Amino acid sequence: MRLRNVPGAKETIIESCFSIQEPETYKGRWAEEFGNQNPIHIEVGMGKGKFILEMARRNPEVNYIGIEKYSSVLVRAVEKTEDFEGKNLRLIRMDAEDIENVFEKGEVSRIYLNFSDPWPKDRHAKRRLTSVRFLERYDNILTSDGRIVFKTDNKDLFDFSLEQVEEAGWILENYTYDLHHSEYNEGNVMTEYEEKFSAKGNPICRLTAYRHES
Ligand code: SAM
Repeated sequence: MRLRNVPGAKETIIESCFSIQEPETYKGRWAEEFGNQNPIHIEVGMGKGKFILEMARRNPEVNYIGIEKYSSVLVRAVEKTEDFEGKNLRLIRMDAEDIENVFEKGEVSRIYLNFSDPWPKDRHAKRRLTSVRFLERYDNILTSDGRIVFKTDNKDLFDFSLEQVEEAGWILENYTYDLHHSEYNEGNVMTEYEEKFSAKGNPICRLTAYRHES
């Protein structure tokens, strides 16, 4: 994602009723924040928010939280909430490295990782959001039958992720190297990057994984 300084981004985010300040203070209290016991699904690295807003519109019985590292990107998601009338969406500016400080074990039922940054250099492998290091963090916030769902058009990153899932002892529920022409495509909500790369003809890979038999 190209980053530009967006004047007024921080102010716009703070003023939005969808954005959460000091997210650590909500740890273990997200059900209270939403006012119900509905499952919580998060997207890590949501970018401009197209996917999570559409998911929140389609599934009012699920609570969605979008996480994005940069204010200059998050502000675009905040702008999209102007015509969103649901109560099941929150947006947080934070680094996913801190995710265990924001969610209690068992608080999150699903983690979406969409077109995560590839970090192609070997020495940066730990920064990849599907590395064993991150899977350990997800393990500490997911419900016992919780899932991660990862989409990308980057085959190297996808193969790396399949290996990491196995190394971490997770169970692969399903995977495909060509989501849009597979049995799993029904109900698929496209992200911004997915639209861009599939329009170029790139096949989209997707995997779903979990830790325990359920
Ligand atoms: N998910 C969107 C999509 O599919 O269109 C955006 C994909 S974009 C390539 C990756 C996004 O993840 C960027 O907006 C980036 O700032 C964010 N990101 C990368 N590392 C992150 C981290 N550690 N914590 C939170 N967000 C992160």
